[in-house]
Amino acid sequence: MLDTIHAGVHSVRADLHSHSFHSDGTMAPGDVVRRAADQGVELYALTDHDEVVGLAEAKAAAAERSLAFVPGVEVSVTWGKTTVHIVGLGVNSEDATLRDRLAYVRSGRTRRAQEIDASLAAAGISGALEGALRHAENPRMIGRTHFARFLVEQGVCRDVREVFKRYLVEGKPGYVPHRWATLAEAVDMIGDAGGVAVVAHPARYRFDELALHTMLVEFRDVGGKALEVVTSNHTPDDVRRFTKLALEFGFEASSGSDFHGPGESANVELGRVAPLAPELTPVWHRFL
Ligand code: AMP
Ligand code: MN
Ligand code: MN
Ligand code: MN
Repeated sequence: MLDTIHAGVHSVRADLHSHSFHSDGTMAPGDVVRRAADQGVELYALTDHDEVVGLAEAKAAAAERSLAFVPGVEVSVTWGKTTVHIVGLGVNSEDATLRDRLAYVRSGRTRRAQEIDASLAAAGISGALEGALRHAENPRMIGRTHFARFLVEQGVCRDVREVFKRYLVEGKPGYVPHRWATLAEAVDMIGDAGGVAVVAHPARYRFDELALHTMLVEFRDVGGKALEVVTSNHTPDDVRRFTKLALEFGFEASSGSDFHGPGESANVELGRVAPLAPELTPVWHRFL
């Protein structure tokens, strides 16, 4: 694999976090893959939320473009009161147990969506569930991003980013607490399917330093191996902070755009990610 690349592991243009319309992205898996290749990505992972059904199409499209492909998934976790996302890289997408366990994680989405709809209606926004479903390719994967697109479409907010400040988050209209997988369950299902577990976009969580440390210790204890040091919503300060933490904890480092579709956010594009600091071990050494 990647035998044309003679430079070091660090210089491989890896994008190991992205979404298709099988979760809350806007594009088909094959289209995301072709876009990644066009953007100069050399090693690519599709990581839909709690779903692996798009991986076969993505793998085939990657083979056509000679793009090195890593089958992935992003598992939703509830840790304490916080939702944490764990990316699994190198999972066997045909693994029936993994598919069952992900189906279980997904199963609460429909009821949660009804509750989000009721909460928004109470705030004077009606028809949100119906509107959100129009933005969801797979109604069983209905999530906050689909509600966010509806709110933008209705002119309630300017963009998805603004939605996640004014709606759908704790203390705001449309917020509904929900229980996803436990951290141990997520790391287990990824590991049992042959993958490596990575904490996604660690700066996004509203943790204080102690809670973050406690979560990372638990993640490591249950078999987690890597931290997504570089991702679109990380500032240079975030990257420095998580570079230090990865080294301190002995985690490998990952890098991914968290691309959901063109135009979703002006500065998010496949492959548009900063390089990892040379002292880090890129998690993708496992896939070269
Ligand atoms: P859900 O799994 O339905 O709760 O939706 C979570 C999704 O919402 C994430 O995967 C992101 O796509 C999106 N999201 C969450 N927070 C933000 C944010 N601050 N800005 C933009 N998108 C966000
Ligand atoms: Mn998403
Ligand atoms: Mn995420
Ligand atoms: Mn993601």
